[in-house]
Amino acid sequence: MTGQVPIGGYADTGLFVAAELVNRVAGDADLSDLREILAVDPPSLAALEARHAKGFAALAADLRAIFDACHLDDIDAAAAGLNGLLADHPARPHLAKDPDGTWRMHHHSADAELLPMWASICAEALARLISEGGGHRIGTCERPGCGQVFIDVSKNGSRRFCSVMCQNRVKAAAFRRRRSTTIDA
Ligand SMILES: [Zn+2]
Repeated sequence: MTGQVPIGGYADTGLFVAAELVNRVAGDADLSDLREILAVDPPSLAALEARHAKGFAALAADLRAIFDACHLDDIDAAAAGLNGLLADHPARPHLAKDPDGTWRMHHHSADAELLPMWASICAEALARLISEGGGHRIGTCERPGCGQVFIDVSKNGSRRFCSVMCQNRVKAAAFRRRRSTTIDA
């Protein structure tokens, strides 16, 4: 795992991967989904094998529980889950030399096992966000039946939906409800 790369508005690779794992591989880890997610870190992508799929699905389930707890404003439960992950998968800071001779600090060594490394990176990223007062930014879409999670990177931290599509569907439903109430009256 190399430096922190901002992706799709996420300032932190760990936050991005945590949300993507929950949304795409919880319950059933499809290797092609995992490949797309781990493309953020080419060495991880190169190391990914079919034997990793089950472990990533389990990690995604653990992370889902943390997003769920945050959604219910139960940061105590989220912290307990994160502390469990952090204890099981400690960070392994590692200093390595780039081909051009630059020394760079990595989260783990290049030959680190994929799963413990990503469990550690994701848990640390979520834990840091909570420690910075951002627990409310660990969100779940409010459209009934959606369940997609996100990290709210908006300025005022008031995001409620995973996508504009879900936002529009909820708005349209509310509009229909209002209109039918008016007609009934
Ligand atoms: Zn949604």
